[in-house]
Amino acid sequence: MISDKKDIRALTKEQLRDFFVSNNDKAFRGNQVYEWLWVKSARSFEQMTNLSKQTREMLENNFVINHVAVDKMQKSIDGTIKNAIKLHDDLLVESVLIPTKKRTTACISSQVGCSLDCNFCATAKLKRMRNLNADEIYDQVVEIDKQSRLYHNHKLTNIVFMGMGEPLLNYKNVMTAIDKITNDEGLGMSSKRITLSTVGIPKMIKKMADDDVKFNLAVSLHSAINEVRSKLMPINDKSNLEDLLEALQYWYQKTKQKITFEYVVFKGFNDKKKDIDALVSYCKKVPSKVNLITYNNIGDAEYQSADGEIIEQYVQILEANNIIAKVRKSRGDDIDAACGQLANKME
Ligand code: SAH
Repeated sequence: MISDKKDIRALTKEQLRDFFVSNNDKAFRGNQVYEWLWVKSARSFEQMTNLSKQTREMLENNFVINHVAVDKMQKSIDGTIKNAIKLHDDLLVESVLIPTKKRTTACISSQVGCSLDCNFCATAKLKRMRNLNADEIYDQVVEIDKQSRLYHNHKLTNIVFMGMGEPLLNYKNVMTAIDKITNDEGLGMSSKRITLSTVGIPKMIKKMADDDVKFNLAVSLHSAINEVRSKLMPINDKSNLEDLLEALQYWYQKTKQKITFEYVVFKGFNDKKKDIDALVSYCKKVPSKVNLITYNNIGDAEYQSADGEIIEQYVQILEANNIIAKVRKSRGDDIDAACGQLANKME
C-alpha cells in the first residue's frame, strides 16, 4: 500500500536531527533513529525501544518505513537462492544468494527493469520501470544476509551489482546505498568486497574515479571490436570502445584498481581468433583481468554459448599474454537465477 507519509529513510542523519530539534526534542534522537534504521535495519517504529512511546507515535504520525519483502524464494540444486523481492509499490526485482565453499555473495538489483537493450540479456526484455531507492538496494543486502546466516551459518561476505538494471544510471542511490552498507554507522561491510558491474558509461566511470570510490569495478565488455560489440550492446553506438578505454585509463590512474572485464563468448559473434587478439590488445592498454562467462540461455535462438574449446583458447591466449583469465561457472541456471536470466513477470 502506498502511503502519503514520507519515507523516513529518504532523510539524512542531519535531517533527522533537525526534525527532532524542530519538534522541541534533542538532536541526538536523530542519531538514535538513524542507528535503528541503518545499523539495526528496523522495520517499524515500535522496534525502536530506546525511544519513548510518545516519540514513536510522533514518528508514526509523520513517516513510514517502506521496506521490501521476499515475495518468492527458489532454491537451486547448487544452493543458489533466487528471491523475487516486492517493493512498497508492488513492483518486483530479483536478488540472488550465491554460495561457494568460502563465501556467500549477494547479487543485487539497482533498477526495476533496464533501459539498455543488450540483445542477449533477459532483463533487457523488460522496460525500465524505475530506479531503486537507496533503502531498497540496502534492504536486498539485509535480506540476503539473513539467508546467508540461516543457510550457511555466517554473514554475507560479498556483494555484486549484477542483478537487474544498470547501476551507473542510478548513480546517486547506488552510492548512498553503498555508503550505508559500508559505513561503520551502517552494516560495516568492506568496500573491497563489493563489485559494481556496468555496461561501461564513460562519463560515469570518470565520476566514480573522481568520487574516490573504494569498491571494485567490472565492465561488461563482450567484444573488443566495435562492430561486434555494437551488435550485442547498442550502448556501444553511443560510447564506443575508445571512449570506454579512455575512461578506464582515467579510473586506473585515479584509483590504482584493476578492472575486471566480463566477457561472454557467443557462438558466431566473438568466437574467432581475431576476437581473442582484439581482447588481448584491449587488455594491454589498461590494467585488467578477464572473467569469461558461459552464456545462459534465455530461450532466444540467436544467442548460444560458444564451444568449450574456444573458451579454453581464450584462456590460453590471454594467459600467454600475462592477462589473468578465469572461466566463471554458471550458478543457479536451473531456476533462471544465473547472469542475465533475471526477469520477473511484472505485468
Ligand atoms: N547492467 C550491468 C549490470 C548487469 S550484470 C552490466 O551490464 O554490467 C549482468 C552481467 O551478466 C553482465 O555482464 C551481462 O552482460 C551479463 N549477461 C547478461 N545476460 C547474460 C546471459 N544470458 N548469460 C550470461 N551473462 C549474461
